[in-house]
Amino acid sequence: MTDPKKLFIKTYGCQMNVYDSERMAESLGASGYVQTDQIDGADMVMINTCHIREKASEKLFSDLGRLRPAKEANPNLKIAVAGCVAQAEGAEIMRRMPLVDLVVGPQSYHRLPEMEAKIQKGERAIETEFPVEDKFDHLPERKAMRGPAAFLTVQEGCDKFCAFCVVPYTRGSEVSRPPERLLAEARNLASRGVRELTLLGQNVNAYSAGGYGLARLIREMAQLDGIQRLRYMTSHPNDMEDDLIAAHGDCPALMPYLHLPVQSGSDRILKAMNRKHTADDYLRVLDRVRNARPDILLTSDFIVGFPGETDADFQDTLNLVRKVGYGMAYSFKYSARPGTPAAEKLDVDTAVADARLQELQALLTSQQRAAQDAMVGQVVDVLYEKAGRLDGQMVGKSQHLHAVHVTDAAGQVGQLVRVRITESKSNSLAGVPLG
Ligand code: SF4
Repeated sequence: MTDPKKLFIKTYGCQMNVYDSERMAESLGASGYVQTDQIDGADMVMINTCHIREKASEKLFSDLGRLRPAKEANPNLKIAVAGCVAQAEGAEIMRRMPLVDLVVGPQSYHRLPEMEAKIQKGERAIETEFPVEDKFDHLPERKAMRGPAAFLTVQEGCDKFCAFCVVPYTRGSEVSRPPERLLAEARNLASRGVRELTLLGQNVNAYSAGGYGLARLIREMAQLDGIQRLRYMTSHPNDMEDDLIAAHGDCPALMPYLHLPVQSGSDRILKAMNRKHTADDYLRVLDRVRNARPDILLTSDFIVGFPGETDADFQDTLNLVRKVGYGMAYSFKYSARPGTPAAEKLDVDTAVADARLQELQALLTSQQRAAQDAMVGQVVDVLYEKAGRLDGQMVGKSQHLHAVHVTDAAGQVGQLVRVRITESKSNSLAGVPLG
């Protein structure tokens, strides 16, 4: 019997990329690969890229440059590039980097086995078209899961065309997977010990297929044996339909956590971003969600220094943050993505944008701290995901997605345990099980 080949994947970006990396590893399982955490000794190194953040392609090219000595030492080492940078710049990657054997876009990774066969013959393989067939039809069944929490991609692509974002160009227009297949995949995951599912999509609350919207899909998944918790991300404020908001109040398996990006608190900037909603529209949606589920933890994304942003616009963003009170948020300085409408506009002065980012992050960090500190003394449910580094310690997530370290010598991975929070640390909570 031949030894399995080793596959090392470096994943950048969002949870959708984490999910894609798992599915690509499973797909290459058909070609005799097993995943490894060690880059040394790997037979294939794959970089799963993200195009959202600053300098994505520069990062990729410097990663590839660092792989050159390994490739020179071992010409049999295969180097693959996947994800959104592969989609957007595949031909350029092939041209500039002869050491790359394979380039695969996010809609094409079901073709990996045939592409791998091609590169084994010494050819190079590139696949970045959006194929008509559903890649999910061609992927192997999910393998044993690594823990009780898993991602499940239910929707891909986006039709919103925010002025700063490449997703509509790299992932294509919105496609929702059929509900019966998703329910079957969820059932299968539950039979393999998964207890918590995060439903993923670039614009997940636009999910629509076979008469199902996201709320109906969530309600039916909540009925499946073994599935105890559900979450979803990432959402657009304009797609927070009534039934989805209602589900936050009446579907106990839907966790009190919502990531709803707003990007800016200024109506002028929201318009320039082509977000198609105002700050007030967004705040009204949050009011309704909080009415349905008062203890919900809210998180968001912000871009500062979008072209044309004035001090007054930035103050509007700070005011919105103060009004909402976020449990967590991501904030970034605007950086132009080639090919997007905003890339044509004049950037805000770098020093000004840096100062704004610092001020916003200080405010968001203080809110995050306050939300975490407020948990001390409270009782939460923790799903144990792994043993902690200390003996007799388990680590898991609360309903609000706080990481919790629990002193519990009898704890088992996959258990859902009532825990009293005793301490708030820098990025996690500590607690003890209720007797
Ligand atoms: S809704 Fe999200 S994914 Fe879609 S274009 Fe806007 S930022 Fe990009």
